[in-house]
Order: sequence, then C-alpha cells, then structure tokens
Amino acid sequence: MITLHFKYLFVALSPEQRKRDEIALQLFPGIVNNLVPELTCDVEPFDSRLAELYFEALDKAQTASDIGSIFYSSILRESEFPIPRIVVFCTRESRIASLMIENNPAAEWGATSGLYAAIYRHDRFLVWHEMFHLLGAEDCYDTAAPDIAEIPTCGNIGCVMQYAPTEATVSDPPFLCESNRKRIVARHLQG
Ligand SMILES: [Zn+2]
Ligand SMILES: [Zn+2]
Repeated sequence: MITLHFKYLFVALSPEQRKRDEIALQLFPGIVNNLVPELTCDVEPFDSRLAELYFEALDKAQTASDIGSIFYSSILRESEFPIPRIVVFCTRESRIASLMIENNPAAEWGATSGLYAAIYRHDRFLVWHEMFHLLGAEDCYDTAAPDIAEIPTCGNIGCVMQYAPTEATVSDPPFLCESNRKRIVARHLQG
C-alpha cells in the first residue's frame, strides 16, 4: 500500500466556497482507492510553517513554475518529508491564479504545475480533475482543437479529465478513463 500526501490551503474564500472544496477534498481518497486499491491519500490542511513558505515563494515568483521551484526547494532545505502535493484554493483575482492563467490561458478555472495545483472555481469536479493531475493523470482535451470542449480525446464523454468538467458532463463519483488510470498506476506502483 502506498500513501500519497496532500496538503491544502484556503486563501480568502467565502464559507460557501470553502465548504464545497472541503467536501471534494474529503471524498477524494475514497475515489482514488476505488480506482487503484493499492493507493491511499491523506489530505490535510497546511500547517503554519508550510503556509509561510508558500507565501514567501509566491512573493518571489515571477512565473507559475517559479512558485513550485522556490516552494519545494525551501521544503527540501527544511527536510520536511515526505514531500507533499499541494492544493491552493483561491479566487480568480489572486496572484497565483494570474500567474497560472498567464502561463496557460486555457486554465480558466484551475491549473496544475508539477506537484502543486491552484483552484479558483469551487466545484468538486474541477477539484478532482486537478487532484488527479497531481497523481499523474493528463488532460483528455486538445487545446489546439477548434472546440476545446468537444468529446474528450480519450473517447469517454464522462471522463473527469475533459475540459471544464462539471456535474453536467461528469458522473459522480467521477469517471476516470483507463489510460489515465494506467498512468497513475505506472507512476506510483511500477517503478
Ligand atoms: Zn487539466
Ligand atoms: Zn479521459
């Protein structure tokens, strides 16, 4: 059994937004465990030191990828193991959201860069989509397609890795296509 560690931070959200995100966070370990029984996830809030390091990294960062490189190098210096996957819940007006959108204009609702994600639309399907990225899943859409939101490139209309996943397009619990399930297994259990 392999345990993956997620840490999350809420920045300037309304109680309703937090509540929606918290429900999605709590459901995620069960969703992963159903798909890949050998994987468990623990999902915990940032402690104050982690939050301090995150805000320092955000202050210094010029680009979205800087945030991760600065943040993880400070974590490594402080030898906090195991390395956590990070999810920051924020608003679209926040600096991390601006940097993510600048880096990838298709990231309207949220984005992942390496081991951290920023989520600025508070919808459980999007939360799960970004958290699956943190496990190694890839997008099932093509940003170069004339209609980015057409049938997912994996061929499964209900796949959670499609563009802009919502209750209207994804089943609950969310469906994850077999190619992404295999990517997750390969990343964590075969090497
Ligand atoms: Zn995505
Ligand atoms: Zn898919």
